[in-house]
Amino acid sequence: MAEMATQTSPTRSVDVKFDVELRKVSKVYNGETAVRGIDLSIRRGEFFSILGPSGCGKTTTLRMVAGFEHPSAGDILIRDRSMLNVPPYKRPANTVFQSYALFGHMTVWENIAFGLKIQRCSRSEIQDRVRDALKLVKLESLANRFPAQLSGGQQQRVAVARALINRPAVLLLDEPLGALDLKLRKEMQVELSTLHRELGITFVMVTHDQEEALSLSDRIAIMNLGKVEQVGTPEQVYDRPQTAFVANFIGDTNLLRGKIEGAHPQTLWIRTETGIKLTVQQSANPLTSGWVMVSVRPEKIQIALAPVGDTANCFEGRLQDVMYLGTHVHCFVQLKSGDRITVRQPTSFSLPSADAPLYVHWAAADSLALSES
Ligand code: ATP
Repeated sequence: MAEMATQTSPTRSVDVKFDVELRKVSKVYNGETAVRGIDLSIRRGEFFSILGPSGCGKTTTLRMVAGFEHPSAGDILIRDRSMLNVPPYKRPANTVFQSYALFGHMTVWENIAFGLKIQRCSRSEIQDRVRDALKLVKLESLANRFPAQLSGGQQQRVAVARALINRPAVLLLDEPLGALDLKLRKEMQVELSTLHRELGITFVMVTHDQEEALSLSDRIAIMNLGKVEQVGTPEQVYDRPQTAFVANFIGDTNLLRGKIEGAHPQTLWIRTETGIKLTVQQSANPLTSGWVMVSVRPEKIQIALAPVGDTANCFEGRLQDVMYLGTHVHCFVQLKSGDRITVRQPTSFSLPSADAPLYVHWAAADSLALSES
């Protein structure tokens, strides 16, 4: 947890500037705690995602940054200034909602210009800025249409242009692509990424889609039950999850529960509940005793038709099932111990017969022991 503490720590170093900081922020709705004292420091210009399962508190967190919800405890700063007494429309942050929330009786142009009209900007300034915003989201040719005459992706672009028109320091995106079909979603992901690069402002996105978070973000906060479990780059949360929840939530993994029988500075020996002995690389925060969850990614496991001697972990089993996933297959192997292990193989893999014994094996460095607490 030491790494997590430094990553989420609001302590500033000389050259890191934070656009958004949450300090011990909680939110309680009618006695139910939705967000539990979280700390987050979001750097200036980064694409930061808040990822987690339904109900973990990610939207509530974003809405508190936007100002639509008031924290029950803690403080929220944008550009070093506490936002606790600042109404949403005065915060240097605008939100893009999943539902788009466009005005149906206004054209695309009018929807985008709305915020500037409220601010009483001059006619010529509105003309220039709306034109620039339309260009940014590639909607110049549709300026006179009404929202109902646009596709979902086009409506989302209008929502993005409208949120950017006031030149906010921070763009907040609440499941921005959630209502789009898979193909359009992929296209819009590329557009969001390009937009972020062109604008250079801070994006904070809420999503429950791990692939989306991994592909777009500079850093990701993974939330569970109102708490932040880990903050890190996509590589860090995938390759070095700090909790069993993160290992399981990001990508596929095999989790085996066991007790530490021996600990060495580099290696741990763990006996699983089902009686097999695992050799696992020691964790970044060394573990010495107690129950742990061992995580082994399906792509780190090999299948052999005979026992493999020079590997830390090799177990006999039988092929139980195979799932075709387009680019690869998942082989489900039932070990003699009773554990079911998922192994990723290329589609070209020639499957052993179901009644022949096979052996799954992996290196100690390809597995991780995660503290249960
Ligand atoms: P989803 O992905 O389903 O939107 P989420 O992670 O964004 O989930 P939140 O919407 O932040 O989760 O909700 C966190 C918890 O707070 C949930 O238990 C939810 O029911 C509760 N909650 C959210 N908004 C309110 C509200 N206005 N009043 C009462 N409870 C609320």
